[in-house]
Amino acid sequence: MLNVQFAANPDHWPIYQPLLTDAFQTAGLAATLGTTLDPSVVDYMVFSPRGQIEEFERYTKLKAVLSLWAGVEQALPLVPKHIPLSRMVDFGLTQGMVEWVTGHVLRHHLGLDAHIHGLGGVWAEDVHPPLAQDRHVGILGMGALGQACGEALNALGFAVMGWSRTAKSHPTISCHHGSAGLDEMLARTEIAVLLLPDTQATQNTLNARTLALMPKGAVIINPGRGPLIDDDALLAALDTGHIAHATLDVFRQEPLPPEHPFWHYPSVTVTPHVASVTRPKTAAQTVVETIRLHEAGAPLRFKVDRSAGY
Ligand code: NAP
Repeated sequence: MLNVQFAANPDHWPIYQPLLTDAFQTAGLAATLGTTLDPSVVDYMVFSPRGQIEEFERYTKLKAVLSLWAGVEQALPLVPKHIPLSRMVDFGLTQGMVEWVTGHVLRHHLGLDAHIHGLGGVWAEDVHPPLAQDRHVGILGMGALGQACGEALNALGFAVMGWSRTAKSHPTISCHHGSAGLDEMLARTEIAVLLLPDTQATQNTLNARTLALMPKGAVIINPGRGPLIDDDALLAALDTGHIAHATLDVFRQEPLPPEHPFWHYPSVTVTPHVASVTRPKTAAQTVVETIRLHEAGAPLRFKVDRSAGY
């Protein structure tokens, strides 16, 4: 019998309880589930920083902590180093991000704003966007989410480039890595999509120098994390028109304070950290499958590499 503690947002427990119960039954695993188990018997913990567990000393049997969030920068300082931590990689979360990113890329690619806000009586029938194959989209972060978004954009015809920490190859996405790879990719990136984790190495990836490498009129779409961008450098690049628009879902401070200039820039679209969300229905199955495989002797899936910070 496994003991599994739900230590994520307590408001979500009534939603997760029946889904996790069903998923354990389907997997043929006997498990006691709860929000307040005796710490000394807990085998696995389903976790988010909203769960307010800060003291792990009494969890002496804990085999792994399973984050319900893909981004683990808040979980890492809370979960002791000796306890393996896995991040959320799940169909629902990925599909939501693919839909959000595709929608926002198409908005900028097609110039939809001009028609939505009205052309003021000017019948501009000769203004056409290029075909997607002639539009270069750069995905910064070619992980679970970035790769899925890149492939969806590729399927629509976009010329997709991807940037990661380690070298990769992909049949249809041109892959870049390292700082020279970033410079090379940004020089051709008309629409940049940021899907990097927040680590020491990724902070201010877009700064005055790297923004200046991008073609004039480029667009930034950031569903990754706020610290990936130097805000002042972005505002300066928007002021000169070098960057035509920024669609930002994540911020250094959330909620974004009402006085922040991003709310008031016509060339900035603010969305309130809604690009994607962990969907309980699929996430419960993912959690149980991760536990099932681990109990069968496989290495922990989606294990966070603490030295890399994601
Ligand atoms: P992931 O699978 O861990 O992928 C991260 C990607 O970033 C990998 O390709 C990795 O390179 C690359 N990377 C990391 N550090 C780098 C560096 N220093 N230089 C270049 N590339 C680097 O993560 P994911 O599941 O795709 O999620 C990405 C992020 O999306 C999360 O961390 C979270 O912050 C954000 N997110 C946001 C929302 C939202 O609603 N806004 C929802 C979910 C997630 P390698 O492939 O070489 O390892």
